[in-house]
Parts: sequence; structure tokens; C-alpha cells
Amino acid sequence: MQGTVKWFSQEKGFGFIVDSDGNDLYFNVQGIKGATLPGNGDVVSYDIGKGKKGPIATSVTIIQKKEVQSRNTYVDSRVTCSKCNRAMVPRVVLKYGSPDYSICPYCGDMYKAFWCFITTTVCNYRGLPDDCYELQTLRRFRDEHLLSTEQGSTLVKNYYDVAPSIAARLINKDDLENTWEKICQCIADIESNQFDEAVVKYSKMVAFLQQRLLSQ
Ligand SMILES: [Zn+2]
Repeated sequence: MQGTVKWFSQEKGFGFIVDSDGNDLYFNVQGIKGATLPGNGDVVSYDIGKGKKGPIATSVTIIQKKEVQSRNTYVDSRVTCSKCNRAMVPRVVLKYGSPDYSICPYCGDMYKAFWCFITTTVCNYRGLPDDCYELQTLRRFRDEHLLSTEQGSTLVKNYYDVAPSIAARLINKDDLENTWEKICQCIADIESNQFDEAVVKYSKMVAFLQQRLLSQ
């Protein structure tokens, strides 16, 4: 079957596809095939499976990406700011041409950090805010070390490709705990100026999660 993604929320992990008759069909992140998460307006192929509350799209595969400014696909249309409580559309702040973080346009509070998708997910799970020590340390490490070398820049680029999908599938408690442990080891390396070690550990962690969560 073929349809168009009506909307999909990376945060919530689910969305809806409009089929050729104009009916909405539910799908969730477990039903997505491949490493790239679909965005609103993408044309997808899918099978129909049985969900708890009715039909559900499975094996959702992107056939054609909607041609949009890919930056905006990172942002859900309207959310509530946790600081000022207003409904708002987060404003994305770019760095090196890629989304770095988004803020509430009213109060300026950080809404979401994009680079550290995985760490953000794990930190949220641990109850830590988006400006927590761990995220700030990794962000500084990226800016001051990784992006100053060609190899590091390539690493960051590759990371952008897979990290959102990994983060959306990081829901299992053991995976979250294991990943937290590995992030802590990276932070410890960075604190003791063992930057190469930190890069190796982080890359290994991403590769492991990619293998575990994205290969179906
Ligand atoms: Zn706000």
C-alpha cells in the first residue's frame, strides 16, 4: 500500500498516514523500516497490521521525501513551553548549517537540543534538563574539539543521519541505562582531557545502538 505521512512526531514516537481513500492510519516508530524517520508529507509504502485499537501501518518505508527545508522537519508544529507554559512553535537555532537547538520564542528557554539526540533522550529519562551538565559538556566537546578536525566533522555529520532514529527507538529501560553508563564514561574521559578516548567510546556507543535498534 502507499500513502502520505499526515504527521509524525519524533517526540511521541507515532503519527498518521493518509491512505489513497483519504483515511487516517496510525503508525508508530517500531513500524518504521530503515534508519530515516518519516516527516510530514513524505510518500511511504506500508503493510497493514493489527494493532490494539485497530489497523496499524507496519513496514513503513519512505518512497519519496517531501521537498522541504529539512530543518523544519525536526520541529513539531506546536508545543507547550515548560517554562512559560505558552503554546509556541520552537525557533530553531542553527550552527554550522545544521539545527543545534530550539528555543521558546516568548521566554527564550531551550526547548530541545538537536545534536545530542541520544544524550538528550537519556538525560530526559534520568530526569535531567536540556541544559544539564552532561549535555553542556558534550556540546562544548563538539564545538571545541570535534568540529576543529575533518575527521571529527565527518563524525558529527554521520551522527546527524542516524541519531534521531536511534533516539526515537530508545525506549527500553535496559538500553537507556546502558547508554547512560556509556555517556558517563565519555564525560569522564572528556573531564580528564582524554579526548580521543571519548570519541572512540561515543562512536562505539552509537554504532552499537545503530546495530541494535535500526537494523531490522
Ligand atoms: Zn517559554
